[in-house]
Amino acid sequence: MTLRLSSPLDMHIHFRDEEMLKLVAPLTAKTFSGALIMPNLVPPITTKEALLSYIKRIKEATKEQADFEAFVTLFFQADYSYEFLEDIKDSIIGIKLYPAGVTTNSETGVSSMDINVLRPTLESMSKLGIPLCVHGETNGFVMDREKEFMPIYESIASAFPDLTIIMEHITTKAAVDLLDKYPNLYATITLQHLIITLDDVAGGMLKPHLFCKPIAKRPEDRDALLHLAISGHPKVMFGSDSAPHPKHKKEACGCAAGVFTAPIALQVLAQIFEDNNALDNLDKFISLNARKIYKFTPIEKTITLIKKDFSVPSSYDGFNQTVVPMFANESIPWSLK
Ligand SMILES: [Zn+2]
Repeated sequence: MTLRLSSPLDMHIHFRDEEMLKLVAPLTAKTFSGALIMPNLVPPITTKEALLSYIKRIKEATKEQADFEAFVTLFFQADYSYEFLEDIKDSIIGIKLYPAGVTTNSETGVSSMDINVLRPTLESMSKLGIPLCVHGETNGFVMDREKEFMPIYESIASAFPDLTIIMEHITTKAAVDLLDKYPNLYATITLQHLIITLDDVAGGMLKPHLFCKPIAKRPEDRDALLHLAISGHPKVMFGSDSAPHPKHKKEACGCAAGVFTAPIALQVLAQIFEDNNALDNLDKFISLNARKIYKFTPIEKTITLIKKDFSVPSSYDGFNQTVVPMFANESIPWSLK
């Protein structure tokens, strides 16, 4: 049995920089037609100069794959001028908003989610048609952070009805329930949040390679996400949030947050959709919906999967980096042709 995927897209991924970028970017470029790259480098991307130079480094790292396009984002600042955004608009696909300190390299994110503080930039984005990507978590109790953020999504969505807002990597039924309440709200879902709950992370022996932000939640949350994804709902897209960290930073006291799924994402998604008799909706989740939400035509690229066991390696190595993927040392039923 084979499966032909037309221009798959990963609408939320971390490529990092330098050696890590060189190791992980080609893995995505090989199997996806395009990917939305997050801007939380150190320091984050907040200037045109930094953006253009990052684009150059990504192009260099993926030069073997001409049939791949990287869509870059800017790191949200509340005081971007209209002129600056107008000038940079054609180089970016969106702007990513991080509340300060909620995840990896977000220390310089916005310190207040007060709509009046965010208003200048949001107003310009709305006028210029630049989508807003949001890491929607408060600094509250870890299991409640996303749910507590819902009123903030509501206030932005109602104050800026023309602004496209993407609730990134949603993990709760609360976010699923909010999605259809505002026409300008959209969402991405990761691979791991369709599969695991907090039990898989910390219910037995601690699994550092499954630790991510937002943390995986309850079974009813996971089930709501799964139901939404396999339904082909037009407002939801695949965004792996594949977030590589060196092995020694995951298997450490003070484990970095992030699950590395890039090289196995499509194969495992095929399995999930097949198990749920939803293969007809897979193209919507991994490509068609994103094209409509972000209004672009991706590079034409067909990825063929075959129903053949694939042994996931214990790690991906290169450029002095070692990164452990999800399902390391396990066998998955679909392979890349
Ligand atoms: Zn992310």
